[in-house]
Amino acid sequence: MKVVSIPFRFKGRHPVWKSAVGEAWATVSRFSEDALRLSRIVRNVCAVRMAPGDVGEWRPWYPNPTDPSQVSEDNKDGPGDIWLNRMSVCSDPVMAVLHEMGHAATTEEDIYQRHAPTEGWASESSADYYAAKWAGLDRLRKRNSSRDHEHHGGIPGQKVLIYDHWYNIDERFVFHPSEPH
Ligand SMILES: [Zn+2]
Repeated sequence: MKVVSIPFRFKGRHPVWKSAVGEAWATVSRFSEDALRLSRIVRNVCAVRMAPGDVGEWRPWYPNPTDPSQVSEDNKDGPGDIWLNRMSVCSDPVMAVLHEMGHAATTEEDIYQRHAPTEGWASESSADYYAAKWAGLDRLRKRNSSRDHEHHGGIPGQKVLIYDHWYNIDERFVFHPSEPH
């Protein structure tokens, strides 16, 4: 089954982000299983004012830290909103949207499969895994080479130093302990 129409709402009247979201969704739609799952998870994509330097953020509705009763097995995979920074648009807004959709699509199993040394690297690499699956590794590589490390996982084929340990990152964004050279 092909999911064509955009299943979530775009809020915030921002032509550049809006067209990037349309293009990102067209890209994801070629993967019907992922598209179907995302259509149940992503409820709104909002162009909002965010801190300078931030591009976007996946914001699950639950758990709301002030309301522990919201946490349950049923809602741990969504729903939620994607926020995009209306104050700054990056060099490849479509990949930025796909990265945030990747966060939305990430499951606990994805996090586990990365074998990453920290939760942060596992989360960013899982989001990038999906972005690369949908739009291609080359496009992700191009984008990540111009971003700083804290905002993304490593690039496949790259060697990264995390807490004094070296890791190789393979094509599926899995971390492998490695020697320094
Ligand atoms: Zn991220």
